[in-house]
Amino acid sequence: MVGTAQRQALRTLPKAELHLHIEGTLEPELAMKLAQRNNIDLPWHTVEELEREYQFENLQSFLDLYYQLMQTLRTADDFRDLMLAYLERAHNNGVMHAEIFFDPQVHVFTNHLDYNTVLDGLREGMRIGRERYGISGGLILSIVRDMSLESANAILDMAEPRKNEILGIGLDSAEVGYPPELFADQFERARSFGWHAVAHAGEEGPADYIRQALDLLRAERIDHGTHLLDDTELMERVARDGIALTCCPLSNLRLQVINSMNEHPIARFMREGVTCTVNSDDPAYFGGYVAANYEALAETRLSMEQLVALAGNSIDASFADDARKTTMRAQLDSWRTAHGF
Ligand SMILES: [Zn+2]
Repeated sequence: MVGTAQRQALRTLPKAELHLHIEGTLEPELAMKLAQRNNIDLPWHTVEELEREYQFENLQSFLDLYYQLMQTLRTADDFRDLMLAYLERAHNNGVMHAEIFFDPQVHVFTNHLDYNTVLDGLREGMRIGRERYGISGGLILSIVRDMSLESANAILDMAEPRKNEILGIGLDSAEVGYPPELFADQFERARSFGWHAVAHAGEEGPADYIRQALDLLRAERIDHGTHLLDDTELMERVARDGIALTCCPLSNLRLQVINSMNEHPIARFMREGVTCTVNSDDPAYFGGYVAANYEALAETRLSMEQLVALAGNSIDASFADDARKTTMRAQLDSWRTAHGF
């Protein structure tokens, strides 16, 4: 069992968070508050009633609730408040740098908001967060793979005039049946904007989706990548090329990608030389922010030294500039000295 001292140490361990959907940080309390503020009718009347919905059998059952609650976000202030609520928690979890996904296709085409409203609110939240907590980072515009390609193209049209306010492109939502190869044009366009490229692959989909994300989307990191385990040759390549995986242990458990935390492939990946990082994905839905994910791994066979190495990986695999990485590395080194690792 993880003791109080170790739990506290993991909360202050300096780290970056590289796989986090801002909409997935919408806590039931805030969703109810926003619904009231914006006169949205939800089928639940109390936070407790809503919380009963948080039992998921797979990715899709989670996505259904996730998209339903997203309709409570209406104004720039709502997006700012959502971002600030996350950054406060992140700060309390030792996060110094966060690269944050958002799903504008849903806000614009499903919920009929203006792209600029969403971007303004999220950016304002990040600006305040940087001032208040010193958290650096950026936004990753995530293509929702089960929405139309037309909507993906239209979002990139909207994003282009403010392309310098976005860090990268991502690919998320229902994976199986929506292979990365479908999105090669959108990723090529995003790269022409000067954006970084990452993609969810191999969460529920096969290892071949990881290969496609690398070869056809030129993804610099793979989000999840759990099924890399099924393809030894590809695993060797990912290890050799230093492609980082953004692993999300509690998410994998809650969505039944794995049956128990002991089954999580992160220890195996580390043995094979694959660069792994630890992240919270959609923490409001999966029972814990990033420190809780480190803690869940501490409950398995991972040593404190390995967990510290994972935090170091999160800094190195981030898109922060060299000066910022040096600062974060120095903070991690002081933490190690203070804690004797
Ligand atoms: Zn994700």
